[in-house]
Amino acid sequence: MDFSISPELEEFRNKVRSFALREFTEELKHKHDEEESYPEEIRKKVFKDGLVDVSKPWEMLITMEEFCRVDPGLGLSSIVSLFGNEILMFHGSDYQREKYLEKVWKGDLISGFAVTEPNAGSDVAGISSYMKNNGDGTWLLNGGKMFITNGTIADIFLTLVRSSPVDVAKKHHGLSMVIVEKNMKGFSANKIKGKMGVRATNTGELSFDNVVIPESNIVGEIGKGFYYVMEFFNISRIYVAAQAVGIAQGALDYILNYVAVNKKTGNDMADKELTSFLIAEVTTRVEAARLLTYRAASLLFKFTPDPVATSIAKYYAAETATYATEKAMELLGIDGVTTDLERLYRDAKITEIWEGTSEIEKLTIARMLIKNKIKEVEQHA
Ligand SMILES: Cc1cc2nc3c(=O)[nH]c(=O)nc-3n(C[C@H](O)[C@H](O)[C@H](O)COP(=O)(O)OP(=O)(O)OC[C@H]3O[C@@H](n4cnc5c(N)ncnc54)[C@H](O)[C@@H]3O)c2cc1C
Repeated sequence: MDFSISPELEEFRNKVRSFALREFTEELKHKHDEEESYPEEIRKKVFKDGLVDVSKPWEMLITMEEFCRVDPGLGLSSIVSLFGNEILMFHGSDYQREKYLEKVWKGDLISGFAVTEPNAGSDVAGISSYMKNNGDGTWLLNGGKMFITNGTIADIFLTLVRSSPVDVAKKHHGLSMVIVEKNMKGFSANKIKGKMGVRATNTGELSFDNVVIPESNIVGEIGKGFYYVMEFFNISRIYVAAQAVGIAQGALDYILNYVAVNKKTGNDMADKELTSFLIAEVTTRVEAARLLTYRAASLLFKFTPDPVATSIAKYYAAETATYATEKAMELLGIDGVTTDLERLYRDAKITEIWEGTSEIEKLTIARMLIKNKIKEVEQHA
């Protein structure tokens, strides 16, 4: 058992942190939050500096953490331009990898991952966007998606659709993953405005009106889409946990700076019992969230993902982000409301919602543990 991080990874962490502190300027943080505009100029620099390289997953995780520590809106916008790429990596054809994936990896194309619909969020198998086989090597797609990251800026969307009528008893059957291109006839997207947090990220509503999907744009096997999404969540939830750890650490940075500055000016908050308890409680939770996240990541990166470890990390880290930012707001009072901390507080909540709400993570943990126990009991019966 070794809990240390390699010197190379620490060096990389310093590089990413320096980038975020230098490039995520006060002006850009405020501008993109207020205007809800996408920071394309930052995304380009992130790729140019080689800070997102899918062949180095630990570096990707550290980038996510350190970017969110400084500004989740700006940080996420850059990294999430790769959203859904793992599905193509694992299941894409040679044609799809060459045409799309390699360009997404280089930052030349932006991808989106479209599952959620107005009546299907947590209940992934409840989607109703429907693709009908034309019998001539093409399919006809109708329906729509809601709350899709990169909705109005992505070039392609890894899209979950229904490809055969619903079997009520087995709703998760008959779902397929397809690539929808933004230029396809019948596709349109509208920007969703007024989000509480991560306002620099782009979010849209997608509409498919008789979109013709060529057979070559079906990813993997027809009917296997639900399983690809579940497999993907085992990866993406770990990156959401890293987002949450970064946000929680950012809040802790605020708390410690605030106390240190007050001590310097003669108002010794550090000696007040309540402040000490708050620092100890937040620090302990941030450390625990980070360890859980790294543990889940180490299992995934060794190709032995554990859905229970993943859900524990995502659930705990997300709640820690909300907790830490709230405690920081309470301590800083008016200084919290009027600084960047206020934005961090708004940005934290999303980690409890996307890629599976906290309730869904808890259900996953409990269901898997009970299932394993039943197997064990049956084996010994
Ligand atoms: C900013 C933003 C960006 C997003 N980006 C994307 C994207 O790129 N792609 C995409 O596909 N989706 C995206 N989403 C959607 C996101 O994944 C969903 O919001 C999330 O899955 C929850 O679904 P829902 O909002 O429909 O809530 P619901 O599923 O309706 O849940 C509402 C409440 O009920 C609870 N609940 C639901 N089912 C159960 C249950 N079985 N047991 C107990 N409690 C339950 C939930 O925990 C929650 O508290 C995004 C959302 C936001 C806000």
